[in-house]
Amino acid sequence: MLDLLITNATLPDGRRHISVAVQDGRIAEVTEGLRAPAHETVDAGGLLLSPPFVDAHFHLDSALTYGQPRVNASGTLLEGIALWGELKPTLTHEAIVERALAYCDWAVARGLLAIRSHVDTSDPRLLPVHALLDVKQRVAPYLDLQLVAFPQDGLLRRPGALENLQRALALGVDVVGGIPHFERTYAEGSESVRILCALAAEQGKRVDLHCDESDDPQSRHVETLACETQRLGLHGRVTGSHLTSMHSMDNDYASKLMALMAEAQLGVVANPLINVTLQGRHDTYPRRRGMTRVPELLAAGLTVAFGHDCVLDPWYAGGSADMLEAAHMGLHLAQMTSAQAMRQCFEAVTTHPAALLGLQGYGLAPGCHADFVLLHARDPAEAIRLRATRLGVWRRGRRVASSPAPVAQLALPGRPGQVSLLAPPRPPE
Ligand SMILES: [Zn+2]
Repeated sequence: MLDLLITNATLPDGRRHISVAVQDGRIAEVTEGLRAPAHETVDAGGLLLSPPFVDAHFHLDSALTYGQPRVNASGTLLEGIALWGELKPTLTHEAIVERALAYCDWAVARGLLAIRSHVDTSDPRLLPVHALLDVKQRVAPYLDLQLVAFPQDGLLRRPGALENLQRALALGVDVVGGIPHFERTYAEGSESVRILCALAAEQGKRVDLHCDESDDPQSRHVETLACETQRLGLHGRVTGSHLTSMHSMDNDYASKLMALMAEAQLGVVANPLINVTLQGRHDTYPRRRGMTRVPELLAAGLTVAFGHDCVLDPWYAGGSADMLEAAHMGLHLAQMTSAQAMRQCFEAVTTHPAALLGLQGYGLAPGCHADFVLLHARDPAEAIRLRATRLGVWRRGRRVASSPAPVAQLALPGRPGQVSLLAPPRPPE
């Protein structure tokens, strides 16, 4: 007797009428039309069953603090950093834990079951580090939380920052972070990249740097990041987050740079909601979109994810843990409108970030963890179009969240009384 059987599902790769059999928290079988006795059987009704959403770039220590102690008036990255600096002395362990747990509840409701969160290590007390390590342990049964030691105020700009970061790693923080474009000089930014990559190589850690988050086409720290990755043999373990300066770079230089990035097998995280909000603030018109070159990086063979980055904090006044919202914005900013590109946008919030985080047992294949989401959509493009309702969310074969199908009751003369926003079946490509 199976623990759980999902029948008549459509998978993100387009396979239809698929049954997914679950035993002991793992996927036992993925086969067309399978019927077998199970403790629980769910008819997916032809809707999309996806592996869970993954957010490769988030800040759980600042999430849900919007308006404390005031709102970001200029809307820039730098005012956001200053505002977070004002807020930090007032933080308490309990308040960070409470807000982070509330956000993780939202995440589970949205089928977001793995988050890489940066955690600010600038404060010598490491208050956010202790709080998020506590949260990591508490949410572990239902959500994978990976933490990045993030020297928000700069590694070389702030005395003691390297030591604080090393202490955070020793306490159990998983990944080495950094912010080279915020160091005092370009040279110090490059030096910070070298120090952080060497530290990661020495400790066998992954790297994920906030990198070139500006509209300055001369901000080229990702070049150093690719070079150090290559030199130290860190291939596949290093991610460049944001890389917004690439939006404004000269095409000739960008073509050389993308080849170097591909050679180093860098991961890339674009944060479309935040990039379009924070970048271009010094422009008049035309005003740049500020997101890195996503389709070109994918074409060069790089693994590109869309992150959410911020929700209701000093940098962003919106968000609700919905990775489909990030995918929706990314699709528009990068004009990824072909059928293949829309699928890639869905991969950028599922399989691609899972690869960047190094998640084990992720996916819809026999042997993987029985973690998945049933969406009120028929395919990935429709899931993005509708920011589809998560009808059911399962973790290790156990249902952890449900939402009713969004169906409106109309009261129109001569028209059927119920309407859903599902589209007619798509024509074949
Ligand atoms: Zn960030």
